[in-house]
Amino acid sequence: MTPPSAALHIRGALLEGGSAADILIEDGRIVEVGNGISRAGATVVDADGLVALPGLVDLHTHLREPGFEASETVLTGSRAAAAGGFTAVFAMPNTSPVADTAGVVEQELALGEATGYVTVQPIGAVTVGQKGERLAELGAMADSRARVRVFSDDGFCVWDPLIMRRALEYVKAFDGVVAQHAQDPRLTEGAQLNEGVVSAELGLAGWPAVAEESIIARDVLLAEHVGSRLHVCHLSTAGSVEIIRWAKKRGVDVTAEVTPHHLLLTDDLARGYDARFKVNPPLRRAEDVQAVREGLADGTIDIVATDHAPHPAEAKACEWQAAANGMVGLESALRVVQQAMVDTGLLGWADVARVMSRRPARIGRLDGHGTPLEAGHPASLTLYDPAPVRTFGTADLRGRSTNSPYVGRELPGEVRWTIHRGRPTVSDGVLREPAEVHA
Ligand SMILES: [Zn+2]
Repeated sequence: MTPPSAALHIRGALLEGGSAADILIEDGRIVEVGNGISRAGATVVDADGLVALPGLVDLHTHLREPGFEASETVLTGSRAAAAGGFTAVFAMPNTSPVADTAGVVEQELALGEATGYVTVQPIGAVTVGQKGERLAELGAMADSRARVRVFSDDGFCVWDPLIMRRALEYVKAFDGVVAQHAQDPRLTEGAQLNEGVVSAELGLAGWPAVAEESIIARDVLLAEHVGSRLHVCHLSTAGSVEIIRWAKKRGVDVTAEVTPHHLLLTDDLARGYDARFKVNPPLRRAEDVQAVREGLADGTIDIVATDHAPHPAEAKACEWQAAANGMVGLESALRVVQQAMVDTGLLGWADVARVMSRRPARIGRLDGHGTPLEAGHPASLTLYDPAPVRTFGTADLRGRSTNSPYVGRELPGEVRWTIHRGRPTVSDGVLREPAEVHA
């Protein structure tokens, strides 16, 4: 076992997939990057053939604690994150109690600090209890020790246009951003999967693309009107990509995310009625998958975010209509992005560093993550082997829930090392135990 603050000498890593170099880490920071480094007493990590990426940052994680510990806890979710190469996650506020006060976000922050696996940055609710009626204490959460900058009612849409306008205005005071779950609730009542050929065939109520697109269109206009910053969660349709493209061309301060599953999977997977494929927003058509891939490749979509949404087995092992929406995604995200975006030639590894680390950290105003692999910066990074291709299995899942759509599916790649502030959380492909991580 490596003592937590021991010096690490990473030998011959491909920096963001480019040239090979050594990386020397001491006291939680990168102290040297280059060739011919020598440092007596350092633990040597052979990184031949491994891609070095800045530690991955997930802007959209459901950790479920407090309140839903049967699905996930901050500790188990943080372990899933580390296993997937993440060094920071933004925790969505749909816990019980809802994270809508300074007290709850500070509690979430403290739970994250106690695990040590990743940096847990709380997201605050936009409205009290995520009920969409009254603004929550956004300023108090921003001023709290949790320093909240991202606000979201995720799981629910901030549907009332006046509440949305006020939230956008309010967060300007502290450079915050409203992250919208774009779903018109009236257009999606009882919705079970994407509205289209497959929903008609199965006779299930459809979730139309326009229910997402109409909210995004409204919100970019509101953001432009009040001069504020908007982030669109889990964009999933070709039309949504077009709207974001149009808004960016106009100069609207909008960013957007896509999930790994919307980059890879399509709605015809619902034909087997396997509820692992039930998610909100739903899996869409192949044309939509193509459009979100292109949107991510050309920068219209800024980032990949997992929407890691753990559920206990009983919430999924039931008929489709009764099953919960959501998929776990932290452990598989980088491998799915490799398959959908890198192996297809749409992104290089430096782009992956941008969309899975630098940009999400920047959108969330999170310091100390997504920083360059250069001397002087915090040593949060991932060493990834893109070569192996293996069947994804439940053994790959390190959180408390197993509702992954990839179990039984071949995926490329393997996270070999995850290093959080100089301390390995995954070493040589093995997830470390809590006592080794938190010293
Ligand atoms: Zn959502």
